[in-house]
Amino acid sequence: MARSGGGSGPRQPLSVKKPGTRATKTPTKAVSKAASKAASKAATNAMTTAPETSTLRRGASRAKSNGQKPSQKAPTVAKSPRTKAGKQVIASVALERLLAEYPDAHCELDYRNAFELVCATILSAQCTDVRVNMVTPELFARYPDAAALAAAAPEDVEAIVRTTGFFRAKAKSLVGMARRLETQHHGQVPQTIAELVLLPGVGRKTANVVLGNAFGINEGIVVDTHVQRLARRLGLTREPDPVGIERELMPLFPRERWAILSHLLIWHGRRLCFARKPQCPTCSLRDVCPSADIEASAGSADLPAGHG
Ligand code: SF4
Repeated sequence: MARSGGGSGPRQPLSVKKPGTRATKTPTKAVSKAASKAASKAATNAMTTAPETSTLRRGASRAKSNGQKPSQKAPTVAKSPRTKAGKQVIASVALERLLAEYPDAHCELDYRNAFELVCATILSAQCTDVRVNMVTPELFARYPDAAALAAAAPEDVEAIVRTTGFFRAKAKSLVGMARRLETQHHGQVPQTIAELVLLPGVGRKTANVVLGNAFGINEGIVVDTHVQRLARRLGLTREPDPVGIERELMPLFPRERWAILSHLLIWHGRRLCFARKPQCPTCSLRDVCPSADIEASAGSADLPAGHG
């Protein structure tokens, strides 16, 4: 059971400034069936004007080899978005439908405060949340705060986190992180990306996890393996790396939704849009997803299966 993020510091107000875009305003409530249908149609129209993606090439090639007209064999070809407007419509529809589908989406790591979330997120690298949640009760019981963990012998921490993989490096990061919290931040987890990424074992992804979930600060979007895969399949980005993907996703979604967006994409990736065999026929995004039929029929993975 996931714990809610109580946060060890004061909750900070969110910026009301939306990222630079004249994007369609995303509804906060589920829209009516008619509105959803209209959005889907708009997505198709927007995408039809710009058939240019790897999906297009793959679909067209497959159709040609079968001696059939591309328009008959590969209907998803015409749905691939190139324009900003096309991406925006898909992003808005996806957000609204996933919110309706996963109203309880949340961080699946167990934690009670920002310190525990930093520890759990460090341990989650190349490891499932379920596995991390098996070791953190003992870790947090032995080392309840930065002061305790900073004074720990790395071998003792290694013994506790051994089953999460890369346990020596993770134990070193945990103790180093706690020592820096003690020496630089009075034992408290800082609330800026710039300060967080200076903690051992903490990169931009972990910093975004902590800010968004422990402090309610939407500074960026968490891009893990699931978010990467879904963002690409939905045609929202063709960037190869997480930083580039994050940069492209931010203007497509309201800032106040950035934290929940990651959870929604991760939940969808874990439950339906699998790396190797996405369940497109039963997916609620099927009508707007440029990869729907191709991914379902090919059963391919454009990215290697990741953790979680
Ligand atoms: S399951 Fe299929 S239709 Fe749904 S988002 Fe993934 S690739 Fe697209």
